[in-house]
Amino acid sequence: MKTDIEIAQSTQLLPISRIAEAVGLPEESVDLYGRYKAKVDHRLVARSAGRPDGKVILVTAISPTPAGEGKTTTSVGLADALHRLDKRVMLCLREPSLGPVFGVKGGAAGGGYAQVVPMEDINLHFTGDLHAIGAANNLLAAMIDNHIYQGNALGIDPRRVTWRRCMDMNDRQLRFLVDGLGGRTNGTPREDGFDITVASEIMAIFCLATDLADLKARLARIVVGSTYDGEPVTAGQLGAAGAMAALLKDAFDPNLVQTLEHTPALIHGGPFANIAHGCNSVIATKLSRKLADYVVTEAGFGADLGAEKFLDIKCRLSGIRPSAVVLVATLRALKHHGGCPRDALDQPSPALVRAGLPNLERHIENLRGFGLPVVVAINAFPTDTAEERAEVEALCARMGVPCAMSEVFAKGGAGGEALAKEVLAVMESQRETPELCFTYEDGLPLAGKIEAVCKKIYRAKAVNFAPAAAKALAEYERMGYGSCPVCIAKTQYSFSDNAKLLAAPENFTVEVREARLAAGAGFVVAICGAIMTMPGLPRRPAAENIDVDADGKIKGLF
Ligand code: ADP
Ligand code: MG
Repeated sequence: MKTDIEIAQSTQLLPISRIAEAVGLPEESVDLYGRYKAKVDHRLVARSAGRPDGKVILVTAISPTPAGEGKTTTSVGLADALHRLDKRVMLCLREPSLGPVFGVKGGAAGGGYAQVVPMEDINLHFTGDLHAIGAANNLLAAMIDNHIYQGNALGIDPRRVTWRRCMDMNDRQLRFLVDGLGGRTNGTPREDGFDITVASEIMAIFCLATDLADLKARLARIVVGSTYDGEPVTAGQLGAAGAMAALLKDAFDPNLVQTLEHTPALIHGGPFANIAHGCNSVIATKLSRKLADYVVTEAGFGADLGAEKFLDIKCRLSGIRPSAVVLVATLRALKHHGGCPRDALDQPSPALVRAGLPNLERHIENLRGFGLPVVVAINAFPTDTAEERAEVEALCARMGVPCAMSEVFAKGGAGGEALAKEVLAVMESQRETPELCFTYEDGLPLAGKIEAVCKKIYRAKAVNFAPAAAKALAEYERMGYGSCPVCIAKTQYSFSDNAKLLAAPENFTVEVREARLAAGAGFVVAICGAIMTMPGLPRRPAAENIDVDADGKIKGLF
């Protein structure tokens, strides 16, 4: 079997101008970035206001194993399958970060015969959007420290600057540092640190902004720390928002690429799914809806995190409404939830699959609770057996949920037709886009919103707020941020905040350790458990296998 990169490199791509033409994009709206990538003018969304919107299909998953359960792969394959069925379809995904590419997880451009291409470019800093976001973030950091250095008219307390520097790399060495050393002419010494760019609030803002004016307004609202009197200081007060937006101007246009089967794809923005909301930019999703009848998009992690935030944050704030949800499950992950040891996941065991089904069942119930129709996709692996699959099919039949095997990794779009037909059937049976039932209303206090997610989605018995978290939430209410949605940062491996509680845990208490305000993004983050905003590289980084030959051909990416 060929590797992902070998499959990708043996495919003849179409010039991106041909893809743009097929989508019906006017030539003046397309900026070519070489032969196979283009930026599309985001203003097309406003200019196409009169056009109907395509239907949005959200791809999410059960609680994953560390390997990932195949959401991106399924999204790509489902879009290819719809394309094969002659539907006008567009794929809408996040941009990969360099951190995981060089770390453990590898690339994020799909897998096997369901990939977006050129996968080397997409995985290796693409059109530079993440670097532009890093530059905007670090411009603000430089302006904060310069303000303090130049006399500190605003009275910023250097001990209470919360804005951190960022870089798109896994580099644990930069997590905590002291900078501004070297005496009076070299700045003000203070504790500082770096986050990975995708964890920066700028990324979250970038992904929620509806146009450049909204982007600028959100950047101005960022709270960077507080004064000696405890009052918040914003990027707007520092005069930074205009220059930051200027740095992001080109990045804000969504990136057009294609799949291995020439299905059009917009890849744009990529916020973390813990500290941020974990899905591609609002502007790309809105643009896709104008360009196609069906939009296939992915939300990060499992449905308790990614889908919940897609719905309660992105959809709430943007007005986007999905028509159907595809819930990806693998037999391996179900066996894992059923208690199977990691080295035996390849061994057939219908009993362990059955033991893991409560995880799938709870995700289905939750998604239905949002008022959305669900289709289960079993992402097929060569080690799967029919007996194991029958366990999943029986649960789905009991719950009245359509279920299809997806073989897109091995067969591309042809392997996704069964899934695509189930998804189309579900959507055709609706007269209109389903009414979305959010987990909480805007008017509920922040602590109540956090409790609503923990109890309704995670099924926690209780929520405990550490004193620091309770104090911060009360402070955000006082500052006028009480009507914001909440973004919960917790482990993706469990419904609970304890990664070891698999399947469908009950009777647990969620501990909210800390709360942070993302005033520009417009949400409040509740941190449950240890959340890493600057990952490190593993003992054997994937970077050790990546190489480029004299002709510029990349090897070893996966
Ligand atoms: P997610 O988006 O859920 O994190 P991905 O689609 O990125 O998952 O898949 C995770 C990894 O598993 C990728 O390396 C992908 O190539 C691989 N993978 C996904 N589906 C399959 C499959 N059916 N068979 C073999 N490998 C797969
Ligand atoms: Mg993915």
